[in-house]
Amino acid sequence: MEKLAIDGGTPVRTGGFAEWPIFGDLEVQLLKEVIASGKWGGSGAVKNAAYQPKLPELERKFAAMQDASRAISVVNGTVAITVALQAAGVKPGDEVIVPPYTFIATASAALAYGVIPVFADIEEDTMLIDPAKAEERVGPRTKAIIAVHVAGAPANMTRLKEIADRHGLVLIEDAAQAVGARWEGKGVGSIGDLGTFSLQSSKNLTSGEGGMITTNDERYWSNAWSVCNVGRVPNGAWYQHEKIGQNYRMTELQAAVALAQLTRLEEQMRRREANAALLDELLGEIEGVRLLRRDPRMTRHAYHLYIFKLAPELAERVDKDDFCKKVMAEGVPLYGGYVPLNRNEAVIRATKEWTGEERIYDCPICERLCANESVWLTQNLLLSDERAMHDIAMAVRKVIRSY
Ligand SMILES: *Cc1c(COP(=O)(O)O)cnc(C)c1O
Repeated sequence: MEKLAIDGGTPVRTGGFAEWPIFGDLEVQLLKEVIASGKWGGSGAVKNAAYQPKLPELERKFAAMQDASRAISVVNGTVAITVALQAAGVKPGDEVIVPPYTFIATASAALAYGVIPVFADIEEDTMLIDPAKAEERVGPRTKAIIAVHVAGAPANMTRLKEIADRHGLVLIEDAAQAVGARWEGKGVGSIGDLGTFSLQSSKNLTSGEGGMITTNDERYWSNAWSVCNVGRVPNGAWYQHEKIGQNYRMTELQAAVALAQLTRLEEQMRRREANAALLDELLGEIEGVRLLRRDPRMTRHAYHLYIFKLAPELAERVDKDDFCKKVMAEGVPLYGGYVPLNRNEAVIRATKEWTGEERIYDCPICERLCANESVWLTQNLLLSDERAMHDIAMAVRKVIRSY
């Protein structure tokens, strides 16, 4: 057997992977335009008549890309979720059904506004919210479901929409990881009532920080716009504040960077898709690896992450952290990923503060997969060349053989 790098053997890969973010002259040029215009913020007058503001252009292009009629730029993807809940009329004390396998912001954005997250378990083979489990969690206080397109894989929007309609619930898509993704040919963020996106540094379209809210509903759009603009109304007077809102605006500088990044997105998506397909092929041949199921209705996967699982018979006798550490030593950054949010102490405590009760939701599938089966690679690895995919598979195979 080949000696593992962690034990002093030769690592499979020493060259690293594609760095993130990727940028060039266009980012610099658009940023210069913003600086020179003197219009740096998301509100106020344009001083130079020749200057075309970047934020409206970004919102227009983003909405069109996701098949939404409207997009609103915001400070980040976390705030985008809170605003979407507010815009849809969800109130403090109401409950929202969320999956436990997601970034904490999905739950904390609700709790920040006093909305209580109720956890519905995930599907074993996609690791996305299980619509049947979501429906089981519907109760008298339920007002909304947040579907999370984890890794850039669209959740089952067809079933979730049926369930939301049947129970009169708002359906929000947390598409923070899913810019460019499509379900049955339709852009995510335009299928539910509202969609939310993140432009944070790690995300597939980034401006350092930033967020987007998408919708096809004019009323939700004006509500969300108002919440993000200190309660102003679209086309209203400057000091006309009709509700309590905050200043959640993005800057023109961020919009400039995002617009430049947008010109690179399609080519990057194609590269990630091609490399993910190659990884499916290479990892799929390794005994001890289980690929996630790709529902054919996921017509476009954004591959913010590439997730795979250790087969149960291997996971039984292998410690996931030990596995990741060994693959990492081979020169391939592999991570254990999320821990189940339904067990997060801060979420349980905040829920208790709002409700007065200790609420524990069991999500056995998520808990088992997180404990010892699921691992992930980040999107920048998928922007590397084909050779890199072979090295990833070789490192995984080498470490599995050592057990
Ligand atoms: C990144 C992320 C968020 C939060 O976005 P920020 O811009 O970092 O606030 C929310 N949900 C999910 C699923 C994310 O991955």
